[in-house]
Amino acid sequence: MSLQQDWDVIILGAGAAGLMCSATAGYQGLSVLVIDHAPKAAAKIRISGGGKCNFTNLDVTPKNYICRNPHFVKSALSRYPSSAFIELVDRHGLEYEERELGKLFCAHRASDLIQILRTECDWAGAQFSLKNAVERVTYRDQRYQVLTSQGRFSAKQLVVATGARSFPKLKASGFGYELAEQFGLRVLPQRPGLVPLNFSGKWQQRCAELSGISLDVAISAGSMRFAEAMLFTHQGISGPAVLQASNYWQEGEAIAVELLPTVDVLAELKKLRQGAGSLAKWLHGFWPKRFVNFWLALYPLQSEPANCNDAQLEAYARLLTHWELYPSQTGGYEKAEVTLGGVDTDEVSSKTFEAKKQPGLYFIGEVLDVTGQLGGFNFQWAWASAVACGIALGENR
Ligand SMILES: Cc1cc2nc3c(=O)[nH]c(=O)nc-3n(C[C@H](O)[C@H](O)[C@H](O)COP(=O)(O)OP(=O)(O)OC[C@H]3O[C@@H](n4cnc5c(N)ncnc54)[C@H](O)[C@@H]3O)c2cc1C
Repeated sequence: MSLQQDWDVIILGAGAAGLMCSATAGYQGLSVLVIDHAPKAAAKIRISGGGKCNFTNLDVTPKNYICRNPHFVKSALSRYPSSAFIELVDRHGLEYEERELGKLFCAHRASDLIQILRTECDWAGAQFSLKNAVERVTYRDQRYQVLTSQGRFSAKQLVVATGARSFPKLKASGFGYELAEQFGLRVLPQRPGLVPLNFSGKWQQRCAELSGISLDVAISAGSMRFAEAMLFTHQGISGPAVLQASNYWQEGEAIAVELLPTVDVLAELKKLRQGAGSLAKWLHGFWPKRFVNFWLALYPLQSEPANCNDAQLEAYARLLTHWELYPSQTGGYEKAEVTLGGVDTDEVSSKTFEAKKQPGLYFIGEVLDVTGQLGGFNFQWAWASAVACGIALGENR
């Protein structure tokens, strides 16, 4: 079927935000065309959350987001809270499960959620043009002209929902930033987020030897602390605590690992001293043998606790509660779940997501300088920003 040329709204990007926005705009009677260069919509939803998509969180607050203007996210998140998205998936009978820290995942497959979004888009009458590369966008006579590999389309309103740089193998691109710059909008520098941290030299070798071991730790980076699991890999460290910390880590800085975050380490070491207990035996109560052996080889206590003075035990407790590691770099965009930075939120309205300098041009989702923590917050931002924008498209028709 060949598509008409002129539309009320063109949405670039058929990802989480693009799908949600097209349904919202379509329900308001607008003709909507969604263009994506990927062969299938919503590739990131499909693989997210280990194939089960952590699609929202029961406890979403502005504090779960990193943005140069911390107030920017408030309006959209309060107008479309996670309960609104849960209501939507409930209406479609999606089966889902709650995991730790309020995370909601599909009970079966992430594709069940994609099906719901595609159904909403169909009901709203939105049309799709996939495997279609956008070559050029111009603005003429108060309309956006979009030249693509499948022809020329035009619309009064253009929504940029092309996401960010993470996972280029899923067709992620920096297209949205280029488009923003083309229209004179400021774009903040980007870097990978929610990403494993790698080491070089002997620390990389040590991590490789420990690879596969997971420990329950708390990691501090900057002023943030995350108590979750840490996993050793062949290149360095990963796991939820590390991904979370990576959003706040800057190259050259240390991260501090609390290896026994639920234990009063100094008090326990003193008890060991009193009872003439063995440090190795005590550590075996918490860690796998491979990690105990590694730890004691690298950080031996001069002698068993029974022979240590207070200062020695205090220094050892400090090591266990503040193990400083210096990653050399992140795993890069290939391994990053998100991208920090992006289109400066000062350039767009927090109510409508329309560019302040360019009428009819909107930016939603991850292309903006808004990054959520791990736990369903990034998808919730995609849904909330998309709905606010979709409503505004109707009002500005
Ligand atoms: C491995 C992985 C796991 C994740 N797991 C979770 C999770 O469980 N929970 C969570 O909240 N978040 C998760 N995220 C983050 C989440 O996927 C993103 O924050 C979210 O998808 C952003 O939505 P978006 O619509 O802005 O961008 P996207 O969903 O990335 O969609 C952008 C779309 O634009 C298209 N596009 C890009 N460039 C062009 C172009 N030049 N022309 C046409 N189309 C273009 C892309 O093909 C894509 O379809 C995960 C990310 C990854 C990579």
